Amino acid sequence: MRVLLVNPPVYDFSCFDFWLKPLGLLYVASYLKENGHDVELFDFMDRHSPHLDRRLKEKDFGTGNFTKTPAKKPPSLRSYDRPYYRYGVPAEKFMERIHKEKYDWFFVTSMMTYWIEGVSEVLNMIEESQQAGKTMLGGNIPKLLPERASALGADCVFYGGEGEIKGFLNGAGINAETDFCLNDLVPMYGLYRENDAAAVITQRGCPFRCSYCAVHKLNPKFAPLKREAVYRTLEYLEGLGVRNITFYDDALLYDRENHFIPIAEEIIRKKHPFTFHYSNGIHSRFIDEKTAQLIGGMNPGIVALSVETASERLMNSIGGKAKRSHVETAVKNLESAGVERGNIYAYMMIGLDEENLDDIILTIDYLKSLEVRILINEFSPVPTTQDYESKRQFLSDPLLTNNSVYTSLFKYDFETVQSIKNMVKRANRENYEKHKRKS
Ligand code: SF4
Repeated sequence: MRVLLVNPPVYDFSCFDFWLKPLGLLYVASYLKENGHDVELFDFMDRHSPHLDRRLKEKDFGTGNFTKTPAKKPPSLRSYDRPYYRYGVPAEKFMERIHKEKYDWFFVTSMMTYWIEGVSEVLNMIEESQQAGKTMLGGNIPKLLPERASALGADCVFYGGEGEIKGFLNGAGINAETDFCLNDLVPMYGLYRENDAAAVITQRGCPFRCSYCAVHKLNPKFAPLKREAVYRTLEYLEGLGVRNITFYDDALLYDRENHFIPIAEEIIRKKHPFTFHYSNGIHSRFIDEKTAQLIGGMNPGIVALSVETASERLMNSIGGKAKRSHVETAVKNLESAGVERGNIYAYMMIGLDEENLDDIILTIDYLKSLEVRILINEFSPVPTTQDYESKRQFLSDPLLTNNSVYTSLFKYDFETVQSIKNMVKRANRENYEKHKRKS
């Protein structure tokens, strides 16, 4: 069978390529190929896509802006006074491709639930093209918003987990003989024309339970990959000329003695030419001297720490991930291990029910004093989580869970959120100047 795998465009108020990769789709591509199918990829969010008219500017470490065009705001977002965009390769390029080429199947993935418009656009285009090929919808939306997914018009919707992939494909008439197992596959980055950056995982799921997180619904079991599978993926990526690798793990340093540490030691021994990034936020309390030395030894790029808040009051009420002492030790250890202070980032949350503005100001001041770069993580309740259920009556449309919108609609007013963002920008700019003067 000939299969076109599609990563849809994104409709949002902002979107930046901080190594955004459709990792699950690339594993599925590998699995289909292993089972004898011809696979091709159309990634609307590929900044090096041959379908873009101009080359997009690179920022640090292979990150950068996506191409975008103004988009009409859907009714539920009209009260939110910010421009809205469609990010990614123009729709007509996709239409040209599917008119020219014939496919038996289109596998369409989905990431954020509030990016449902892009998914719908792709499925509608395929339908309009009157291609004989069938459509399969997978990814996060079927798992988190099953009713919405089933209303999108795909011929098949995959709601299950990895263990059900083989049976599901065979049921849909797509031959699959091997079991789907991440340990036997490599994410098929070779489908891209250019491979500057890649995201990898070394484990599935997360052993923790944060009330706002849907990771348990997406990956119910926490399971490390076999080390050999991680090494095989890195060797494959080296062969493709990838230079930047980021970890998508949710708890990369959990049980580090048996997992991250041996993997890091092997990576250092192999002298891979990559710069490694930790964009998903790693747990500060696990960054002891030894772990930091290994991160430092692996040619580190951006190391992002999950901080959430520096307010003890708030931390006690939400059962926060990192105490101040953990964050300070992590920063000190990382810097001693050679990670530049300007490349240490910290995620702080805004918009939590229990938080107030004093907590936010305190956290910004604290992180600024540590001279790390602050990243705001705007809270929005992910469908199926406890926090979502408690707000369900206000969330008639999944687009309202957009993290750029939720805080402004349900927690603070728009001006307050903007002034928080401006405070963060100012703090980051001042720290940046400070680092520049020192270097
Ligand atoms: S927020 Fe992070 S640590 Fe908490 S459950 Fe989700 S993935 Fe795990």
